[in-house]
Amino acid sequence: MRTGKEYLQSVRDMKLPLYIDGGKVDSAMDHPSVQAAAEAVAFTYDLACEPAYRDKVITTSHLSGEPVPIFQHVPQNADELVAKVNVTRYCNRQLGMCSFRCIQNAYAPLLYIAAKVDADNGTSYHRNVSDWIRYMQENDLLACPAITDPKGGRKIKACDQSDPDMYLRVVKKNGDGIVLRGAKLHQTGAAISHEKLVLPCTTHRRGSEDYAVACAVPTTAPGLIHISVRHSQDERRQKGADIDLGNSRYGVHECVVVFDDVFVPWERVFLCGEVDYLEELVGLFGSSHRPTTGGCKAGWADVLVAATQLVARYNGLEDSAHVRDKLADMIAITETVYSCGIAAAMRGYELPGGGYVSDPVLANNAKYYASRAVFDLIRLAEDITGGILSCCPSEKEMNNPEIAPFLERFLKGVDDVPAEHRIRMVRLIENISWGLGSILHSATHGGGSGQACKMELFEFSKQAPYRQEAIESARRLCGITG
Ligand SMILES: Cc1cc2nc3c(=O)[nH]c(=O)nc-3n(C[C@H](O)[C@H](O)[C@H](O)COP(=O)(O)OP(=O)(O)OC[C@H]3O[C@@H](n4cnc5c(N)ncnc54)[C@H](O)[C@@H]3O)c2cc1C
Repeated sequence: MRTGKEYLQSVRDMKLPLYIDGGKVDSAMDHPSVQAAAEAVAFTYDLACEPAYRDKVITTSHLSGEPVPIFQHVPQNADELVAKVNVTRYCNRQLGMCSFRCIQNAYAPLLYIAAKVDADNGTSYHRNVSDWIRYMQENDLLACPAITDPKGGRKIKACDQSDPDMYLRVVKKNGDGIVLRGAKLHQTGAAISHEKLVLPCTTHRRGSEDYAVACAVPTTAPGLIHISVRHSQDERRQKGADIDLGNSRYGVHECVVVFDDVFVPWERVFLCGEVDYLEELVGLFGSSHRPTTGGCKAGWADVLVAATQLVARYNGLEDSAHVRDKLADMIAITETVYSCGIAAAMRGYELPGGGYVSDPVLANNAKYYASRAVFDLIRLAEDITGGILSCCPSEKEMNNPEIAPFLERFLKGVDDVPAEHRIRMVRLIENISWGLGSILHSATHGGGSGQACKMELFEFSKQAPYRQEAIESARRLCGITG
């Protein structure tokens, strides 16, 4: 298993070209925004090497029988699903943001669907997926989920779009492999991952077989172009800010990734043209991924609650009844988000040939609830913090000797806390609320839109036996018979 340092070196060794700030850097890791994101992931690599956390983070691969970090593992029981939620909460609480170790959530659904397609069609996708997961485990590599297509007009089918590349597609096949053309958007960690796991973001019908593709692509594959996104406030990191960053150590980084005719050998192809299996794959991936939100957002929120509590103290309000009441509300939201993830994981079930996935109704509910609840968390944090959250002078002013003494006096709360500490905490709240490490953006669309979760929740709930039982109960209770 790699240490954080070894992981960082391995990403540096990729020397990935990146378009950013109007230019192109020869090696993405030379850019401070990319480095900050890699530092967050390095923390998770180190965790697996720390004796104190080994029993929480290390498990045994069912493929090789070797010890692997839980982030690389295909869950083999519900306890392992629960453990993933808990580890994610811990990591995000340490980082105050996304720890970006979610790719493993795709493994069980992919193995299961590959086995099903093989059984029906005589393909060898299951072996391809297993071999790739083993390769990821043996080399302790990081993959980025390459799922979100540009999509063009949202109501138009892939094959009817005016630009046929609005969904990633196979443009060529030969005896050696396939060629991919299109793009994947909003790619978290694309510049700091060794691999991309390409999956369809939606279902496609017959006639759109070229769009039904799942495969693994090395990040340095010829034809992949990485274009950095721009975040609000990202110039703060580029200009070497410290206090104003809020979270001065860690960051997140996303890319637009263009697939400009990328060749993928057959042994790395996991699905190619089998449109009839996409609905199940997309649904299962959602169920598998979304409980992680419970740990992810709860860990992030833990830091937001703590920072808000500290700011209340710095403002001399920690004993105020309404502040305590609002902090209790924030804790209740956090624990509900967590409970939703845990419940979905505890009710996990086995997919033959795959591994364990969470209960689909509870999983989609976890993500949907979190996507709404974070707005309340931020509302309460802003309420308690005060106007300073959006009206705080920059650290450059704090460092200007002409005016610094005024700011040290007038931006202070209680006497025993210097203005700088109060401002650092305010900036952390700003960062988590809508800055570089925003829980808001991550909870709203990361892992699928709230509406997508709600639709899945509704569809899966129709299959839940207790829903049918409830309909019969409603009829019986009001006296409808027959
Ligand atoms: C912080 C962050 C990190 C992310 N990381 C990754 C990543 O690592 N990998 C990855 O692949 N993706 C990633 N995503 C992308 C994420 O999965 C998508 O943003 C999400 O699925 C929504 O897709 P979209 O952005 O295209 O928005 P849209 O799908 O356009 O959604 C916008 C609105 O339109 C509605 N809508 C969409 N289609 C229809 C329709 N046909 N009819 C009616 N309403 C419709 C939606 O419900 C929503 O309300 C990330 C996103 C964020 C914000």
